[in-house]
Amino acid sequence: MKERIIELCKKCGADLVGFAPIERFPEDSAVRKLMPEARTVIGLAFRVLRGIYRGVEEGSTYYQYTTMAVENMEETVMPMATVRLSMMLEEEGYLALPQRRHQQIMAEENSTNPEVAYDAVYRGRTEEMQMDFSEAAVLCGLGEIGLHGALLTDEFGPFVRTCFVLTDAVIEPTPIKKAHLCDKCGECIKGCPGHAISDDGKVDPWQCAVYYNGANGLKNPFMPPDAFRSFEDRLTIIAGEAKVDPETARRILDNIYFYPPAQHAYQCSICGRACDVACYVHLEEKGVLTKTFKTPFRRREEWKFDIKDFDN
Ligand code: SF4
Ligand code: SF4
Repeated sequence: MKERIIELCKKCGADLVGFAPIERFPEDSAVRKLMPEARTVIGLAFRVLRGIYRGVEEGSTYYQYTTMAVENMEETVMPMATVRLSMMLEEEGYLALPQRRHQQIMAEENSTNPEVAYDAVYRGRTEEMQMDFSEAAVLCGLGEIGLHGALLTDEFGPFVRTCFVLTDAVIEPTPIKKAHLCDKCGECIKGCPGHAISDDGKVDPWQCAVYYNGANGLKNPFMPPDAFRSFEDRLTIIAGEAKVDPETARRILDNIYFYPPAQHAYQCSICGRACDVACYVHLEEKGVLTKTFKTPFRRREEWKFDIKDFDN
């Protein structure tokens, strides 16, 4: 059955498929609460198109990242694959429970998810509602977690998204990968246009939300010269140097309308996940990614506008 599962997942667009026995998950893991009968967690990783990231890299197109790399993957491609896999398992007489990330659910009070509007996020008692996707990806043998918290795969580096199916079928496990990609180079930290990642790799979700949405004018072709006019420290914000708390972040986000959002509360990413891009460029330059391309991702020096463009 394992081979047939892999074949179906690949037909549905998954690039990587891994299997973790439930025993790999901690006793208090949400996976065990979501489906107490679960014997196996099946992990699916889908590549996010490299060409889409190049749009933001060159400053030529932004919307395709949000629609095709985030919204379409999360709302259409990946749910379709997990539903079809679950149907196959149920056809075989097993229980199956698909798990897609719910972008608007946060476990932590007063936190946020930069990919969706902050006021669309449900915060609170969520430990029984959402599994830990990063933990599950590692336990399914899909990859390792890099310094800034992204899943890194041998094939595509951080350019992947994941979803899972829990089942009571017992399936031969995939070995857990020995971490070997992240060398703690710090490029992900340097790559963020809003200093949202601390030296130890922790991402400040509100700082990230502000700069994911394009508050750094030096890297935002849609920002008007008079942006953030009501803010005393507007040039600090625009230069990517502001240190925000949740309250200031909400105020800044309320003043951001550089590009229309997608559906399902998804926000248009202006940073284009620059942290992941910096990591990808690093891993590609080191030659450690198994999926190679005919041309390098980064082809010229990174562009940026001048802060003087906003000094009026
Ligand atoms: S950029 Fe470097 S430090 Fe950051 S996750 Fe990638 S390899 Fe690790
Ligand atoms: S690069 Fe973008 S996604 Fe990454 S931490 Fe910075 S703002 Fe957030």
